Amino acid sequence: MDPTYSPEADTYRQKIQAFLSEHLPTDWKGIGALSGDARETFVDQWRSLLAENKLLAVSWPTEYGGAGLSEVERIVLAEEFAKAGVPEGNDNDAFSITMVGNAIIQCGSEEQKRHFLPRIISGVDKWCQGYSEPDSGSDLANLGTRAALDGDEWRINGQKVWTSSGHTANWIFVLCRTDPESPKHKGISFILVPMEQEGVEIRPIININKRHDFNEVFFSDAKAPKENVVGDVHDGWRVANVLLGFERGHGATTDAIRFREELDRVSLIAQDNGVAEDPNMRQDLARAHSKVEIMRWMGQRAVTEALAGNPPGPESSLHKLIWSEYHNWFTEKTMHILGAEAMAPSGHGAVNGIGTDAIGAQFSSKSWVQTMLGARPGTIYAGTSEVQRNIVGDRVLGLPREPRADSGPWNEIGKK
Ligand SMILES: Cc1cc2nc3c(=O)[nH]c(=O)nc-3n(C[C@H](O)[C@H](O)[C@H](O)COP(=O)(O)OP(=O)(O)OC[C@H]3O[C@@H](n4cnc5c(N)ncnc54)[C@H](O)[C@@H]3O)c2cc1C
Repeated sequence: MDPTYSPEADTYRQKIQAFLSEHLPTDWKGIGALSGDARETFVDQWRSLLAENKLLAVSWPTEYGGAGLSEVERIVLAEEFAKAGVPEGNDNDAFSITMVGNAIIQCGSEEQKRHFLPRIISGVDKWCQGYSEPDSGSDLANLGTRAALDGDEWRINGQKVWTSSGHTANWIFVLCRTDPESPKHKGISFILVPMEQEGVEIRPIININKRHDFNEVFFSDAKAPKENVVGDVHDGWRVANVLLGFERGHGATTDAIRFREELDRVSLIAQDNGVAEDPNMRQDLARAHSKVEIMRWMGQRAVTEALAGNPPGPESSLHKLIWSEYHNWFTEKTMHILGAEAMAPSGHGAVNGIGTDAIGAQFSSKSWVQTMLGARPGTIYAGTSEVQRNIVGDRVLGLPREPRADSGPWNEIGKK
């Protein structure tokens, strides 16, 4: 399973390494070493530099603004950036490039590709994700936001929730019910909606770390052009799932790099404060080591699939499940390592809102506590652990489907 990169991929790796040494300061330690304003300025300038040098969305075709390379080169770039502790773009790019951009490439029309993809790369359009609603999260197909055609425009009414980076976006991809009469998975459309209009209202939600990372978004007769449906009208469920494959699988090849860096830092702290002598703690650190190694091997498998030209499928749920549960467990262990400091944390906060803290960040007890709190939602967003287990059972292992109240055997029983 140890993937062998082609000579072309190795040459590309050297090119990326040369780019990094040319453009990063010689004393570069990682984005986490920069303080608030300096970090924001760096991300803006870095993103422009990446766009100028065709280092954003490198696997997109050149006619849409990409570099026309393969998924393998995208992975090589991501690996080198992760090791150097530099971002692949800004916060919205996870939604713009990884999610909606890739979904448009796979399911969109030629006009959509030509219009939207270059605007994503230039940074003119910044996206967020309008899937979840107050009554539809895991049961996403239960969504109630409606879209109806009015001449040449869709009129959208309803509410989305937990919309990450919605306050810094100007476009939102919205799953809407366009046929209320059809079975619930069949009457949904995937619509691209501009946010800078009267009918769209964004309200902040403050999270457990007192950060404003996500929002509620309300649609009151919001408008979108008729042609802004990705895939066919009522075919949004298929497009939604294509996008989720990209969302869940994106970090598969690089997450182990970040988790390894975090584990090495924590192990040093445990040694420094003597906790590493405790046999239970030693077992926990050994367990963490094994988990990170498992993630590294899973990453290698994802690279092997990419080398064979296979896009991410339901196996990406396995990756999502393993990293999010690991990080929940491991960050709790870091609280034991901090001991009393965890109860009265001090110093600066974590750089990242979720996931591992940014590479290069200085240690403070507050940053570790915030990293622990930021790990909690990992088992919820992009689909909860229970939902990932169902997907792995159904679609990876081929086990019998879970009975469903609305469409499975229960429903059949109900009909009789
Ligand atoms: C930090 C964060 C960022 C997010 N960002 C976005 C975003 O940008 N855009 C967006 O649209 N959404 C976003 N979400 C929402 C996220 O996708 C939902 O929270 C998630 O899908 C779960 O839905 P829910 O919260 O409604 O929980 P529910 O679906 O109500 O689930 C409640 C509990 O029931 C369990 N459960 C539900 N169904 C089953 C089942 N069939 N079998 C077993 N157990 C089950 C769940 O696992 C969970 O433990 C974000 C969430 C978080 C935490």
